[in-house]
Amino acid sequence: MTTSHHAESKRVRAGWLVDGRGGPALKDVCLVLRAGQILAVEPYRDDHRPIVDLSQATVLPALMDAHVHLVFSGTEDVQARKAQLTFAPEQVRAAIRTHLQAHWQCGVAAVRDGGDRHGITLAFRQGNSDTAAALTVKAAGPAWHLQGRYGAMIGRALPTDRPPAQAIASSLAAGDHLKLIQSGLNSIDQFGHQGPPLFSQDQLQAMVAAAHAAGRPVMVHANGESAVRMALAAGCDSIEHGYFMGPENLRRMAEMGIVWVPTLIPMAALSQAEGLTVAQRDVARRTTEHQLAQVRQAQALGVVMALGTDAGSQGVDHGAAVRRELQLLVMAGLRMEAAIACATGHAARLLGMVERGELVTGRRADFIAVNGPPENLVEALGTIEAMCIAGRWVRP
Ligand SMILES: [Zn+2]
Repeated sequence: MTTSHHAESKRVRAGWLVDGRGGPALKDVCLVLRAGQILAVEPYRDDHRPIVDLSQATVLPALMDAHVHLVFSGTEDVQARKAQLTFAPEQVRAAIRTHLQAHWQCGVAAVRDGGDRHGITLAFRQGNSDTAAALTVKAAGPAWHLQGRYGAMIGRALPTDRPPAQAIASSLAAGDHLKLIQSGLNSIDQFGHQGPPLFSQDQLQAMVAAAHAAGRPVMVHANGESAVRMALAAGCDSIEHGYFMGPENLRRMAEMGIVWVPTLIPMAALSQAEGLTVAQRDVARRTTEHQLAQVRQAQALGVVMALGTDAGSQGVDHGAAVRRELQLLVMAGLRMEAAIACATGHAARLLGMVERGELVTGRRADFIAVNGPPENLVEALGTIEAMCIAGRWVRP
């Protein structure tokens, strides 16, 4: 055994490398790791003597889910869904732990939470320090919505007895980001139907400005043309869902560099949900197809997309949903590597973790490995063979 004042470098041979930037997979490369970081990525040579041989595997960055609700499970059982709303805090914390376990099992090393009414996820995150061996949680606390409109399940109504920026002060002090709800849910009774937006342009603008002044990015739940247009005009950081936003908004997002999290899987799950009528399932199916077409357009326009599953929605299980969302992004027409970039490099930037998400020199050594070449990578992600976080093997 050698001792050294300096951290020793280690080598990992990867049969194939998908680096999280969206470019084509590289063949037979060597990752040089030191002090938990990637020192270099170079072509493999025999004299490299790899410490870890993953020559039969594809290596890619650890995954991230940019839109989850950790307090809810994806159960389709209506009674079980209702029961979750009345859980005691201890039950909620147990649920959060279970859901984080599920993410970890699926190779997900970071999630961004879209809010819960009592802010329990944020409190949970504050009580659990972010060690390298743990999954990173970015939490909003309660989302903010307009009294009488959608959002009570995951947030609070904006108090109107004081200016908006003051009303959300608690979120800005404690949350990792701000979550605003600017539209309702998509109708499953009437294809493409959108209600009026929630907040006024002034209210939105004031809240986004206050968040940015406090150094907090803003994620906005927005479906439909006008809700998305208003959120973009207010200068939000990401549009969540964005169903039926239309090409003009997509063009604006590409110009402004605002990230889109298209959350395909919740609607795709509804298109097969047993509790729905045939007509409702059909609206959900057409809505999914419309969203797939928007994703295709977004990719052509150069909109930066991050993968988010809205896990905790009906039929959307934490962890497992990430692979299903990747499949849908590929179905929309993204190359596999581009879909992976949504769940790695793009998501890392959106989550404010620029040191992660891409397997290039200088980044943290966070990666997973799955058996075989990358041709069927998304399917292969069902079995994570190895996982390394900050240079430490957390699996097998
Ligand atoms: Zn959500």
